[in-house]
Amino acid sequence: MLKENLDTVEKRIQEACDRSGRKREEVTLIAVSKTKPVEVLKEAYDLGVRVFGENKVQELDVKIPEFSDDVAWHMIGHLQRNKVKYIAGKVALIHSVDSLRLAEEISKEGKKKDVVIPILIEVNAAGEESKFGVAPEETLSLVKEIAALENVQVKGLMTIAPYVVDSEENRPYFRKIKDLSVDIAKENIDNVSMDILSMGMTGDYEVAIEEGATMVRVGTGIFGERDYSI
Ligand SMILES: *Cc1c(COP(=O)(O)O)cnc(C)c1O
Repeated sequence: MLKENLDTVEKRIQEACDRSGRKREEVTLIAVSKTKPVEVLKEAYDLGVRVFGENKVQELDVKIPEFSDDVAWHMIGHLQRNKVKYIAGKVALIHSVDSLRLAEEISKEGKKKDVVIPILIEVNAAGEESKFGVAPEETLSLVKEIAALENVQVKGLMTIAPYVVDSEENRPYFRKIKDLSVDIAKENIDNVSMDILSMGMTGDYEVAIEEGATMVRVGTGIFGERDYSI
């Protein structure tokens, strides 16, 4: 089942790229493996998956040592400041930075480990109360503040769009985040690039790609439904 799911997702990514005149290499598929056991991730690894997304520090802690270092781990979930030390230097990218205080903590841990930690700024595109993320209109000023920190590097933006039945409903939000990234890139801020746009999940990754996503985070579409009861 895993192989068929991966093939389907891969085909749809390719088609979305074709529709929007983009190259497949411009889009990284992050296999979101949260709640899934290590054996399942190993199966995915054997099928060629090298990029995994997780949303809990504890789970990263358990899973990372089980794999060789050709795997890139992405922290995509809300991150508490007191947990930063456990993942600093171990993950390829932290997608979920939405405050100066969190970025300061990441920079502090980066300094201790003598690494510059790549991050994305999480933007709450639809202004949903239930979601983390900075408001679109506050993003530029936050990026400017974070840019001054030595051991983090802002690489782009991330958004989690609303849960919708028709993915077309999210197109305006993806477009808005793309436009925002273009506006921020134009500011030419030192230590900041807007090369990465992490947007699109199982329900809406094709629309996200059409609107410029360079990373899509697909969980259910690859691994099937999650069981949170275990
Ligand atoms: C769980 C999760 C995903 C994947 O969601 P699916 O709908 O299962 O593809 C993507 N991004 C974030 C931040 C998540 O927490």
